[in-house]
Amino acid sequence: MFFKDIVGYRETKKKLLHIINNDRISHAQLFLGKEGSGNLAMALAYAQYVNCQQKGAEDSCGTCPSCIKFQKLVHPDLHLVFPVATNEKVKKDPVSANFLDRWRAAFLNNPYFTLADWQEIAETGNKQLLINTKESSDILKALSLKTYEAEYKIMLIWFPEKMNASSSNKLLKILEEPPKKTLFLLVASFAEQLLPTIISRVQLVKLNPINEEELTDYIIEKYQLPKDKAENIARLSDGNVNQLIRIIEKGDDTEFFQNTFVQLMRSAFVGNVPGLIDWTDEMAKIGREKQKQFLIYGLHLFRESLIMNYGDVALSKKNSKEAEFLKKFAPYIHGTNCMDTIELFNDAVYHIERNANPKILFLDVALKLTKLLRVKMEV
Ligand SMILES: [Zn+2]
Repeated sequence: MFFKDIVGYRETKKKLLHIINNDRISHAQLFLGKEGSGNLAMALAYAQYVNCQQKGAEDSCGTCPSCIKFQKLVHPDLHLVFPVATNEKVKKDPVSANFLDRWRAAFLNNPYFTLADWQEIAETGNKQLLINTKESSDILKALSLKTYEAEYKIMLIWFPEKMNASSSNKLLKILEEPPKKTLFLLVASFAEQLLPTIISRVQLVKLNPINEEELTDYIIEKYQLPKDKAENIARLSDGNVNQLIRIIEKGDDTEFFQNTFVQLMRSAFVGNVPGLIDWTDEMAKIGREKQKQFLIYGLHLFRESLIMNYGDVALSKKNSKEAEFLKKFAPYIHGTNCMDTIELFNDAVYHIERNANPKILFLDVALKLTKLLRVKMEV
């Protein structure tokens, strides 16, 4: 993996290069970023650069024996650990080694793949993916091996959040007395699910969502789309490149979101509870990614309403159909209820990402909205 192939994060890349080139390499780093942010790609670009035998100023060479193996993820000093479960072929005590070929292929096909993608690729059905105790014995075994050819042995753990308590404690012990010339690269999305003692032992590389401008530029350059369309997709992607690729492949759902939003607001205005229940049932069917995109789309319309009411029209990014709808809708989003409304949708995004039950969640959103829309503006 090259740094140059990762979307955005100019500053983070600079910081990582500085750390390596000034011999300030930490024995454990946590690449923390939402799914689709590129945290995994960043960790692998870092590992490749650290071990590159002809480092350039901004990237690894790509041609030395180490780079060639790192690019295929087959370097003998690169150890990969990730959550797994049993499937048709692996019936007992699943560990990463059983799934290594599939995982490599998944990353090489799309460095931004998510845990949900992985579940499909690994064919583990609905079973919870975990890093179990047997895996931690494998980690210890790998650490006891001598380094074959690299300067640094790399132990990369994707989703350390999925370690059970006993594996987490074993990892913590290792981090307390790290073996020499071994780098731990933890690639995580949910810091609150990690032991605080683990977090305190690692250097944090935080990947904030890629900003919309960087994403828009990327879309225009890579897919040659017009600016307004690229902006639309960048917004719906919410800093998630995986989502971005999916939207481009499957088409932009803006129109569907628009209609769904109008339907919700109509029922919410008049307190039509059966209508809201129907709406909730429809929402529950569309899948998590799309549910999240819908909420992000809703946040965009709230923002546009506020701009219409109070703001600088130059900041507006609405299309003509939205403008038509907002003429009537915008007055209902005002200084007195806007914070609660925005928080309602933001919280819903948070819970969708954490596997909340969509039926309960969306009904709750719908019912709260009926109240919020009736709040009169305080003068
Ligand atoms: Zn190289």
